[in-house]
Amino acid sequence: MINLKKIPPVDEILLNKEVEELLSKFNREYIINLLRAAIDDIREELRFLQEEMERDFIKEEVIKRLQKRVEQSARGTLEKVINGTGVVLHTNLGRAPMGERALNYMSAMAANYSNLEMDLESGERGSRYVHVEEILTRLTGAEAALVVNNNAAAVMLGLNTMARGREVIVSRGQLVEIGGAFRIPEVMKLSGARLVEVGTTNKTYISDFAGAISEETALLFTAHTSNYKIIGFSEEVKLAELVKLGKERGIPVMQDLGSGILYNMKDWGLQDEPSVQECVAAGVDIITFSGDKLLGGPQAGIIVGRKKYIEAMKKNQLTRALRVDKLTIAALEATLLEYLEGKPEETIPVIRMLCCSPEQLQRQAEELLDNLYSRIGTLPQVASLTMVELEDMVGGGAYPTYKIPGFGVDIEFHDNALEKIARELRLGSPALVTRKQDNKMRISVRTLLEGDAELLVDLIEGVLKREEVV
Ligand SMILES: *Cc1c(COP(=O)(O)O)cnc(C)c1O
Repeated sequence: MINLKKIPPVDEILLNKEVEELLSKFNREYIINLLRAAIDDIREELRFLQEEMERDFIKEEVIKRLQKRVEQSARGTLEKVINGTGVVLHTNLGRAPMGERALNYMSAMAANYSNLEMDLESGERGSRYVHVEEILTRLTGAEAALVVNNNAAAVMLGLNTMARGREVIVSRGQLVEIGGAFRIPEVMKLSGARLVEVGTTNKTYISDFAGAISEETALLFTAHTSNYKIIGFSEEVKLAELVKLGKERGIPVMQDLGSGILYNMKDWGLQDEPSVQECVAAGVDIITFSGDKLLGGPQAGIIVGRKKYIEAMKKNQLTRALRVDKLTIAALEATLLEYLEGKPEETIPVIRMLCCSPEQLQRQAEELLDNLYSRIGTLPQVASLTMVELEDMVGGGAYPTYKIPGFGVDIEFHDNALEKIARELRLGSPALVTRKQDNKMRISVRTLLEGDAELLVDLIEGVLKREEVV
């Protein structure tokens, strides 16, 4: 308590040279607010301090805190993360990192006016959706396409347009919940459609669907069970059977595909996931999928299917509330162009990571190991460094049971320091997020982007050397 009275008043601190410098660069109110917060911090710390402090020392401390707060606030709350987890589509880490073409196109359209909703030929008002519709139909083979905010919105819009006040038949085995509280039954309720569940959790037959069709049936619905798999004694209705039933009874089939891949990944050992093209070709009437999962583009919900249904969705008032902005449209168009031109395995980061050869990954892991050896190998906290074969994951609700063989480095620390060091690395700038395996820090090289491997060695060395001093 003895020190509290020595905290200089705000007005006095504002006259300090260093603070005047801040005032010349930033808004005065803003600096005063941060200064008050810095004074509060100091007051809390001094409250229980027995030792007596110099007034000038306290003043200097307040100014240091103020400068730190200004610096922190200027950085923003979003931080670049180096993804060492080996989970390619990590929903908590923002899913798909975007390719260069998408970034350039997006930034050019962000900084300028554009023909977002103007037909430059006639000078008349146009539609924002034309910019991606044609390329989507070309790539998928569908008659029409529409893009909204995300796949959850796409499902909602599809159900609301097609089945509000009417019935939608779904298999009990597909009443999925995707991370972030997207639950098919809840979305169904919000859309105004009535859910009719058929079959059991592990077995649903086409006869279950057929038996549930009534006057009230508006849709046959199927969801890709993207984050789990029912294995063993189970039976799923084949897409072709559902389409056939829909055709016979004159009821459209809607499919929530989730990830929605456009690129043939089967050559790369990723067999399970049906591509959008395959589902279109199978005759599904409405298909929805995400833009930022296996497509590798911006967050978006893409709807492809029969023209009459897509046109009805465009007229739905809900579409206005779920509409995408120019940045999404630009990033999506640029990403789709990479597919059209045929080299996504080189230009779209997510596809590149998934198609990376084991030899390439092994080379990268060896290089990372060498660098870590020379930079941190002799530091006292490091117990061992080993190159490891490991299992990566697609993530983002795709290929639920599929592990992709990859490579990485395990770092073992002395004295149970793992948690502490991992935390320090998460709080760095950029942040480094890793896996934990057998009490070691595990870094997979698959999800490292260009320059990340060098950067992460710097970060780890920095944290360990700092720790050493303490
Ligand atoms: C991911 C996913 C969703 C939600 O998609 P968002 O783009 O995150 O809104 C819905 N359904 C399925 C099957 C999914 O995999």
